[in-house]
Amino acid sequence: MDYLSLNLYEIRDELEKGNITSLELTKMCLQRVKETSDINALVSVCEEYALKTAQRIDEDRKNGKKLGPLAGIPIVIKDNINLVGTKTTCSSKFLENFVSPYTATCAQKLIDAGAVIIGKANMDEFAMGSSTENSAFGPTLNPRDKSCVPGGSSGGSAATVAANQCFASLGTDTGGSIREPASFCGVVGLKPTYGRVSRFGVVAFASSLDQVGPLTRSVKDSAIMLKVIAGEDLKNDMTSSTKPVPDYENISSNVKGLKIGVAKEFFNDKLDSSVKKALDSALELYKANGAEIVDINLPSLDAALGVYYILSSAEAASNLARFDGVKYGVQAKKFSDITDLYFKSRTQGFGKEVKRRIMLGNYVLSSGYFDAFYRKARKVQKVIKKEFNDAFSKCDIIISPTTANTAFKLGEKSGDPLAMYLTDIFTVPINIAGLPAMSMPVGKSEKGLPIGMQLIAKEFDEEMIFKFGKLFEEKSKEAQNV
Ligand code: GLN
Repeated sequence: MDYLSLNLYEIRDELEKGNITSLELTKMCLQRVKETSDINALVSVCEEYALKTAQRIDEDRKNGKKLGPLAGIPIVIKDNINLVGTKTTCSSKFLENFVSPYTATCAQKLIDAGAVIIGKANMDEFAMGSSTENSAFGPTLNPRDKSCVPGGSSGGSAATVAANQCFASLGTDTGGSIREPASFCGVVGLKPTYGRVSRFGVVAFASSLDQVGPLTRSVKDSAIMLKVIAGEDLKNDMTSSTKPVPDYENISSNVKGLKIGVAKEFFNDKLDSSVKKALDSALELYKANGAEIVDINLPSLDAALGVYYILSSAEAASNLARFDGVKYGVQAKKFSDITDLYFKSRTQGFGKEVKRRIMLGNYVLSSGYFDAFYRKARKVQKVIKKEFNDAFSKCDIIISPTTANTAFKLGEKSGDPLAMYLTDIFTVPINIAGLPAMSMPVGKSEKGLPIGMQLIAKEFDEEMIFKFGKLFEEKSKEAQNV
């Protein structure tokens, strides 16, 4: 049996039945990581730690101990999530040698559920980018076509799952960084509602938008992972929600009588014809299963990208001020005084895109421009939120493509920041509105590249997303063949 290509819920059964041990499985995953190292999905592998954990779980299982929902299952986390004693580099030269002094809440929850963390995933530096080409440790390649990017910034997290190196991973999503790579690599990527998952111990990019979420090979796996990582963590992250965590795993896939909102703004003329075709047939499938399609309007959708680059850069400029060469990361060798130390350390440690965001952020926050840019962007954010709220008075879920096109070639957009920013045009509005959304595979282009469908729900209604996702997975061959 090809254990490595199973879904998380399937391998869980195999482990429970005793058909394979966690140690055997972990060794197989580590071997697979070596064999497929050309895709550069991981920046570090915690081999010793993983083998020890797996062994301990096997012993617990043998002794009849009650085990958690991820017991013995190899999992990868993005390299901006702290795991004590391991390097957390954010794929930046600045943090090349930074070792986590503590563990992030989301990683701790995985560990408590019995997961075997085998490595840390490559990413765009400090999560800024859409292709994982901004990594100081080289780009990740898309396992479906190695001449293409895997998307970003959680490109390593998507690629490791698509290449069967592990059974699930964690990514972070500030403007699309889970969903866009999921779409490009043909896996399922969920950005939960803002506040659903604690960000404690996750290196901040734009704190009012950042969320942690799972990347998996199936919708059911996504639900299992969310159930583990979701929940309140007020002691450490005051933005985490106290809403109870529902039983995401056991949701029916009955969509009869439910309404799907379709906005023309998501189906514009820039959409690739194969993407449009795949989305049209997905909508037909839902109709055939009793759902109703309603037209909705999101007239300010276009403004979301501008709002995002103002708000996220402003917050990034503030968040990244802590990297000054004194407390964390690299320090310039030669400097004349403290200002020179800051200047040289930051100049040497940060990559081009990160510097661009810091400059952009400080610019929009500067006294002469604050009202014109930052304050205005906050106002437009309110309008966008309201438009989504109004839309949800008419429908239960909104469906759109995740990206207008399939994965692009390595190097194709790396010299053109604006073209790169535009790939997130459909994902960014969801973060601006604080909503949950998932990308799942709905087919392939003529060139055989995966196409992603985005399912968007009301705040804290991840259950609706799983319901629709599950139905598609059950009924459609496209979803099963990716
Ligand atoms: N691609 C977007 C950016 O570069 C989103 C990144 C993210 O979600 N972390 O900012």
